[in-house]
Formats: sequence, structure tokens, C-alpha cells
Amino acid sequence: MTENTKKINEGWNFNNSYAQLPEKFYTKQELNPVSNPEFIVFNERLAEELGLHTEALRGAESAAVFGGNRVPEGAEPLAQAYAGHQFGHFTMLGDGRAILLGEQMTPQGERVDIQLKGSGRTAYSRRGDGLASVGPMLREYIMSEAMHALGIPTTRSLAVVATGEPVYRETELPGAVLTRVAASHLRVGTFQFAAQWGTLEELQALADYTINRHYPELIDAENRYLALLEAVMKRQIRLITKWQLAGFIHGVMNTDNMAISGETIDYGPCAFMDTYDPMTVFSSIDREGRYAYGNQPYIGAWNLTRLAESLLPLIDENEQQAIKLVEDTLGHYSALYRDSWLDGMRAKLGIFNEEEQDMALAEELLSLMQKHQADYTNTFVALTFGKLEQGGLLCTSEFAKWLEQWQARLDRQSQSREEVEQLMRSSNPAVIPRNHRVEEALDAAVKQGDYSVMEKLLDALADPYAHRLEQAEYATPPVRSDRPYRTFCGT
Ligand code: AMP
Ligand code: MG
Repeated sequence: MTENTKKINEGWNFNNSYAQLPEKFYTKQELNPVSNPEFIVFNERLAEELGLHTEALRGAESAAVFGGNRVPEGAEPLAQAYAGHQFGHFTMLGDGRAILLGEQMTPQGERVDIQLKGSGRTAYSRRGDGLASVGPMLREYIMSEAMHALGIPTTRSLAVVATGEPVYRETELPGAVLTRVAASHLRVGTFQFAAQWGTLEELQALADYTINRHYPELIDAENRYLALLEAVMKRQIRLITKWQLAGFIHGVMNTDNMAISGETIDYGPCAFMDTYDPMTVFSSIDREGRYAYGNQPYIGAWNLTRLAESLLPLIDENEQQAIKLVEDTLGHYSALYRDSWLDGMRAKLGIFNEEEQDMALAEELLSLMQKHQADYTNTFVALTFGKLEQGGLLCTSEFAKWLEQWQARLDRQSQSREEVEQLMRSSNPAVIPRNHRVEEALDAAVKQGDYSVMEKLLDALADPYAHRLEQAEYATPPVRSDRPYRTFCGT
């Protein structure tokens, strides 16, 4: 048998549309091979959905693909250019430690980006080494897969491979590459880049590309660029609503970390909130709380305003007219967000129809949670199953009063108690990736090379609305400590 006929079919089916954009938007990139790529985790379910052949991909030869040692058939590696407002300051960025292999066409006819993250320097690395270490890449794997299971739009994680090479941060750490799967890596920052450094034609090429790829229903819209802004706004509202309802804090909502597709992207400093407090911040660098839990909806609007500014010259030749049009569109953000959030909150409370006082009912519960430092997730689970004897908030007279109002509210709708419980079960997760459990899994993985703790955690997180008995141990909040939990960017 010759070398060629022996070649294994891994199921790659690349069709690389991004590489057809004007060259300003990317730089073709050689892959940087690593010394000893070995799988730590491989997401077989996702691989199958992508049309990849898991049998063929399991072996060491395929770890080479996910470590950047072998270019899979049909891939055209490149790093994408983009800019962004980081904590309010505008900068040129780009893929400094990520390389897009290409776009895989799935058996369902979807187009998804396959990207290696932590795979070495690129044209946009600036002073960075382009690398990533095992802990943060496994963290992204756990968090993004948990988000997907929660029903929150997100980029996915296909694999994490150890590189066999060290990465130098404060200490020497083992290196890793994560394979990220995304609807695309188009960001608000990609448009800012085009508006700042591109010609009008280049900006238009990007906008048309985006519409074709993510919003084809807008191709014939009267003003398709304004329609694009409105559509992106709606997807962001849907996304941020889901974050708020689940208690997810993204942590670094810079404009380069807001995906035009409406997926959650960039799992650096993100974390889930335990005790309810709108000012919750985990990120070590977010000293002013810009990206605190309660600010996320406002930052969403701020970022969309940056997208709107970038689109102005396409929306109308007359700048004043363009500004008026985008202001009218973005003017709907607050009301749409409020409705979207309230719809979700009604479901969490088992409410099927709409009443004027529902907002007040929901807000009163949250303010009691805050006052009595109640666990956000577990309070909703306790309400779902009527397990209200657990102490803390649930034992207070204020809560008893609220409970009466809520029960009266449920009595005013026609649905049975079973139907209410069903709705609440599917709206209130039993488990979220709690910080102390994620840290425990990462500690075992990084310090002992023991991946079993992580695998068990991933298992519990895979079906958060199942409310299975084995999931109960993952529902326990952390022991209170004087040292707040801290997360880090770009580690
Ligand atoms: P992030 O915090 O992941 O959104 O990254 C912000 C910017 O810094 C992006 O342009 C990244 O590609 C870049 N970056 C982050 N870490 C590194 C690194 N280790 N080496 C090079 N560039 C990096
Ligand atoms: Mg980023």
C-alpha cells in the first residue's frame, strides 16, 4: 500500500469563505508545530455532529492536527484581523493566539469555523507568545460545554491537546491548544477594524459577507445594513437575557468579544454567580465593575452602539440621516431587553400568562435574595420543588409574604401544579459550573494529571435540567471565604 492510499479519512469538509474576503481582513499563517501533542479531552459527540469520523480521529496522528502539527485536508490557516474597545479604549487587536483552520461544512449543511487557540504566534501577536496553558483551556472547555447544555448560544470546544511544551506566565505551566468551533468569529470589533482602516468597499464586503453568512433573510431588505444592526441587536438581547437568567458573568465584554452571530465567545474571566448580587465581579482586572453582572445588559447596548457607528456610512450617505436611523433602532433596545428578560423570569417562576405586576414580583424576589445573600440558582430550584424549609432567605417572614403573593399569582392562571413544575424544571438548572467545583477539577487535572474529576463534573453539567439525584452534590454553594474568587484574562 502506498502512503496515499493509507491516508485516513477524518471527515474534514472545508469550504473557506472568509479567505475570499479582501486581504486586509486576515493574514495567511503557517501552523506552529508542537513537540508532543496528546489529547486531554476530545468531544466525540460534537465531532460527530460536525461530520468528523471519531474512530479515525481518536489516535495520536489526529492529536497532531489539533496541536497544529498537520494541516487537515482542505484547511487554509489564517489569523483574522480585528480591533476592539477594551474596557472602553479602542485598539487594534486581531488573532494573537488563534489560527482559523477553515470552515467545516457539517452534514446538516451548516458552516462552522474550526479554530486553534493557543497555537503560537501570529501576525497579530504584538508582545504575546501566542500560547495557552492547560488550565485555562480546560476551563474554556468546561464552561463552554456547560453553557451549551444550559441552552445558551455559545462557541463550542472540540478538543484540548497538551503540547508537551512549557508556557511561561508567573510560573512555568504546561502548554495546551484548544480547538474552538464557532458559527463564525465575526465580532463587533471586526466591523470597527473595517470602519477604521478599511475602504468603504471593504466595509461593505464585510457587511454583505456577514448578512450572507448569518442573516440571509435580510439580503433583500430595504436598508439591509440597518436591518443587520437590528438583527444583531435582537440576537444579543436574546443572548444577554439568557446570561442574566442563568447568573452567568462574561467578565470581559469588550467589543472584540461580542460575536455577530449571537454566540457567547471568549471564556477568559467568566464565572457563574453563587450568591445573588448585581455588583458581582470576578475578573481581577475589572476593578471598577464595568462588566459586573448587573451591568451586562447596558454594556450590550454600549457595544451595539459601537457596531452602529461602524455601519453608519453604509446605512445612509447622509451622516445625519444615518445617525437618526440607528438611534431609532437602538432606541428599542431597553424595552426589548426588558420584555425578553421578563418572559424568561416568568418561566423561571412557572408563570404562563402576563400580568402587570409580574415585573414587581420578580424584582421583589431578587431584592430579597440580595438582602439575605441567597444562592441564585438554588433559590429557584427550591421554588421549583417546593423545598422551602432550608433556612436563610426561605425562613424569613419577608419571604413568606412574597411566597403568598407568588402562590396567589399561580392560582390566577389555569395551569396545574404539574404544568408549573414542568415549566420551572426546564427553566431552572439543577447545576451550573460552580467556581469551586471547576477549580477542583482543574487542580486535579493540572497538578496531578488526574482528569477523572473533570470528567465527572462534565457529566453532571451535560444535562442541567435533568434534576438527577447524582447532580445534587454539584449544587452545593462554596463555603464562604474572606478571599473573593478571582478570574483572569488571556491566561
Ligand atoms: P482576549 O483577552 O482573549 O480577548 O484577547 C485580547 C487580545 O489579546 C486578542 O487580540 C488576543 O488574540 C490577544 N492575546 C491574548 N493572549 C495572547 C497571547 N498569549 N499571545 C498573543 N496574543 C494574545
Ligand atoms: Mg477575545
